[in-house]
Amino acid sequence: MQRLCSGVTRAGERCKSFALADSTFCITHDPARVTDIAEYRKRGGAGRSHVNRARKSIGDLRNLAGLQATLLQAIEDVKTGALEPPMATAIATLARALVAVAGVNAMVSFEAQIAAMAAQIHELERRPA
Ligand SMILES: [Zn+2]
Repeated sequence: MQRLCSGVTRAGERCKSFALADSTFCITHDPARVTDIAEYRKRGGAGRSHVNRARKSIGDLRNLAGLQATLLQAIEDVKTGALEPPMATAIATLARALVAVAGVNAMVSFEAQIAAMAAQIHELERRPA
């Protein structure tokens, strides 16, 4: 069973959050993480800062091979502890966005090819046999 935080809220009540796995406190009350929390708030929250940091750490993603290499490296880095899991999550989110954009581009290109083929068929039908 997960333990509750042994911290005390500003209102003077016992904190009801779950304690971190390696601590008797939650992320807000853990003295070892107080500096991180201050930094975290200064940057406007985890999502934003992690996404920005992930964006900086990503290499050339203009092609599928680059994206794949980055993701494989990220997986290895999470395994070795060189990359924090929230950073890996941000990278995965950005990778999904890239794939979605690539999918839209492919669809637009495919539609253009269909339109060109339809025009060619129409042209061939108009020619006298
Ligand atoms: Zn707490």
